[in-house]
Parts: sequence; structure tokens; C-alpha cells
Amino acid sequence: MNHERSTMNNARLAFIRQRLVEHGAEAVLLGAAPDVRWAVGFTGSNALLAVTAEAAHFVTDGRYAGQARQEVSGAEVHVPGYDLHGHVAEAGLLGPARRVALPAEQVTLADMERLRDLYPGVEWVPVPGFLAEGRGSKEEWEIEAIRRAQALTEEVFDGLLSRIAPGVSERDLAAEIAYQHLRRGADRLAFDPIVASGRRSALPHGRASAKTIRPREFVVIDMGCMLDGYASDMTRTVAVGEPEVGMRRAYEAVLAAQEAGIAAVRAGAAGRDVDRAAREVLVEAGLGEYFSHGLGHGVGLEVHEFPRVSYHADHVLPENTVVTIEPGVYLPERFGVRIEDLVVARRDGPENLTRTPKVLLVL
Ligand code: ZN
Ligand code: ZN
Repeated sequence: MNHERSTMNNARLAFIRQRLVEHGAEAVLLGAAPDVRWAVGFTGSNALLAVTAEAAHFVTDGRYAGQARQEVSGAEVHVPGYDLHGHVAEAGLLGPARRVALPAEQVTLADMERLRDLYPGVEWVPVPGFLAEGRGSKEEWEIEAIRRAQALTEEVFDGLLSRIAPGVSERDLAAEIAYQHLRRGADRLAFDPIVASGRRSALPHGRASAKTIRPREFVVIDMGCMLDGYASDMTRTVAVGEPEVGMRRAYEAVLAAQEAGIAAVRAGAAGRDVDRAAREVLVEAGLGEYFSHGLGHGVGLEVHEFPRVSYHADHVLPENTVVTIEPGVYLPERFGVRIEDLVVARRDGPENLTRTPKVLLVL
């Protein structure tokens, strides 16, 4: 593992240095935990990583001294105390760099002012999606980690089915989802579970409420966890008792759209084309106006990350990226349906990491 990890980090640092060249920068300063983890393997939460053409310096606080020495590879470890930026500046860890890149999404205006004070003479270069392509293209061991997280979520879903019945509240089910994930070894939930029944299922992000489930309702359940640093994400819609004809028809349309979306996933496909493949099916079914969000998102060290699978997305799917495919329709004051799987964009097409069946379950 250590050897594998050090070669892996060399490739990742090489990717970072390539990005510097592309943006005419001489160094980059990374501080978001998933970025730092991806680059040098550190799993803690407070660190900075300064990478120049010649060197890589990792800086954390005293709580992480031991952990950093065990985990970090490819960078020199510094444990100066709590003022991490102060150390980077005083110890000159950016070398002679004058143009220093920053991941644009992670820096606030307040941060920029502070950085200008701390590092006089540095010209900061905000770069959108600095690590996006690198983190987006998964290695096989990362795909296996995501597969394990997804399998855990699916076990939780299997166990949950016997509890979904009239009279049970959404909140009961959400609590069960959280408990069962943690009991089975998840690091934590990836997000608060969505459990939305009846009319509330028409809310795409319906947080679990005190509402109890009634007969002939849909229940939309969207959940995921973090396991060994990687996320899972899955949505299923089940019926409690035989649903109305219109509900079943909508379910079948969403399922057909989802399958069309999955079939369009491959390395090099444009995010917007994958979205369109699914969306056309819903438009033909007369439900296009009720599909009110993008088709999916990347999943990895974060549950929402690059690439987006959306009609807005200009980019293409990197090889071996992992994305969700999650079309949904939301009929206000009536019901909603969403179905979500995790899919790898292989060179020759999709590989679905999700095993849970998608025929409409009537409980
Ligand atoms: Zn989800
Ligand atoms: Zn999702």
C-alpha cells in the first residue's frame, strides 16, 4: 500500500504541476480536505499543501502530527502549530513563486484579503476546478471503495423495506437509515437522508418530516454514506399499497429515462448529451416540465463533485469517472418519483455499481 501510494501521489503531483503550467502559475496552495487527501493521502481535516515545480510541502497542526507522518506521501511534512498560513509564508514554502494558483470555488473575498496581507508580492490566480479532472478520473481502487460504500447503502435499503408501512413516520425511517449505516461501519452519512412520502415526494429535496406514511403513497428515499473516505448515493421510490395508474405510469417513464441516461454514459460523452438522452424520454412521456434538475453529478471523496451531468455542462466525462444518474419528476401537490444509480464511465460504456432492483416495489 505504501509503495502503491507513493507512486500514486507522484502521478497526482505531476497532474498538479501540469495544471500550474497550463495556468502560468508557479505554485498552488490547496486547503480543502478532499483535495489534500487526493494529492498526498492525508485523511485529517486541517492542512495546507503548497506545491511548486520543485517541491511539495504539507502543513498541519499539532493534533495531526502522528497521523500526518503516517499518511502523507510525496510531500515534506511540517507541524508548526495552529497558524498554518503563517508558517507557509515565513518558511517560504511557496519558494520564489510570484504567481500562485488557488482553487477558485474555495476562496472567499475575506480569504483573498487575508492572503494578500500574509503574502505580500504574491499574485493570486483563482482557477476554477483546479483538481476537477484529476479527482474526476478514478483509479480502480477508488472505484472499489465507492462500490463498497454503495453496497453498504444497499444493505441498509434492503433492511429498511420491512419497516416501510402505513403509520410509520418519515423521521423514523431517516433515523433507521442513519443508525443502520453507522452500525454497519460507515464513517458517517454523506448527507441527511431524504425520506419524502405522498405529496411531500413532490419536493426534490424533501427532508424527512414527522409526516406518517399513508396507503397508496409513494415514498422517495435518497441516501448515502462515506466509507473509507468515499461516498455512496442511491435513490429508490417505493409504493405503499397499489398506486394509482398515473403514478405507475410516471414511475415507468422515470425508469425508462434513467435507463436511457445510463446507456449514454461513457468516457468522453458530453455531460449535456447524457442528460438529454434521459430528458427526451420524459419529454416524450409528457413529463419533461416536471424534471426540474440536472440528471446527475460526480461522486468520490465528496458526494457532489465534478463532473456534472446536466444540460448546463460543457465538459465531457473523464474516463472512469463515477456519476449518479437520477432523473425525477415532481408533480406539485400530487407525488414525485426519483430513481438514482451510481455508474462508472468506462471507455466502452457504462458500468452500474448499483445492484438494487428497479421494478416498482409495492409494499
Ligand atoms: Zn442521492
Ligand atoms: Zn445524487
